[in-house]
Amino acid sequence: MRAVESWLYAAYKGLYCAPGDFYIDPPRPVDRALITHGHADHARSGHAHVLATHETIEIMKVRYGVGSAATFQTAALGEEHRIGDVDVRFAPAGHILGSAQIVIEHGGRRAVVSGDYKRAADPTCQPFEVVPCDVFVTEATFALPVFRHERAEDEARRLLQSIARNPERAHLLGVYGLGKCQRMIALVRAAGYDRPIWLHGALVGLTELYQKLGCNLGDCRPASTAAADALRGGLIMCPPSVLMDRWSRRAGEDPVRVFASGWMRVRGRARQRGVELPLIVSDHADWPELLDTIVETGAEDIWVTHGREDALVHQLGLMGRRARALALIGYEDDAE
Ligand SMILES: [Zn+2]
Ligand SMILES: [Zn+2]
Repeated sequence: MRAVESWLYAAYKGLYCAPGDFYIDPPRPVDRALITHGHADHARSGHAHVLATHETIEIMKVRYGVGSAATFQTAALGEEHRIGDVDVRFAPAGHILGSAQIVIEHGGRRAVVSGDYKRAADPTCQPFEVVPCDVFVTEATFALPVFRHERAEDEARRLLQSIARNPERAHLLGVYGLGKCQRMIALVRAAGYDRPIWLHGALVGLTELYQKLGCNLGDCRPASTAAADALRGGLIMCPPSVLMDRWSRRAGEDPVRVFASGWMRVRGRARQRGVELPLIVSDHADWPELLDTIVETGAEDIWVTHGREDALVHQLGLMGRRARALALIGYEDDAE
């Protein structure tokens, strides 16, 4: 059996699998890329050949254009692919629509590159599948004991309670445009909110794509098409960056500013952004989920990528596991 680090390792262009001659989520353009999901730090334009789930490919086409890779090939979840001298399978990661872990087998050993993941239920994507493996490559976005997310359903209910208490005030909900936006819409729909939901222009394309791919999000409309008084008392989704800027004035004199993010656990971050109602909802695993998942995979070796690598590596050491930070460049820990 060949040790996994002899055939899967960090190379100049990204995480490289030598016997399959492919990269996973490479930050630089390559000949053959396997992409875990559509977030910008994982899916880049300019690769010659991309293998990804149908949803991830559609997301890449909306974001970067249909010609953003020379060729796209679809990997259905669960389907086996032989690439060079390795067997590859995509397994659901529970992170956003189309997100996948990439399971790679070679020489009697199995590595799982999980991309980004979470364990909490999400009505917009398939739940995370635990794949037993020898090496588990994990993110570490929220890898500090302080990070414990709330139940997303409860946070959505808090939002609806605020809307009911403040019928004259618009609610401006800051969300990242891919994943969080559509998940929050699905959650407030499930909690019974059936009025139109208004979208900042930057959120329209991907939200329409989710609907096209079968996510039922109800009546969503561009905020630019709203009549002057239609936004009063309404729910408006927007990128976090515009919560405080001029654009927010169209929500009226005194909107309730809301931000849904795992970072809202840190009080200072909410205050800094002028957020009146912080919702602690994340598409990444929190600290207990990270540790539980790693234990469940049974992996002897854990390689930690973007985020709080040091804290997670240290904790896993205390738990008697072999863990190390995988020095990959080009990933952001903030995009959620
Ligand atoms: Zn992501
Ligand atoms: Zn990421």
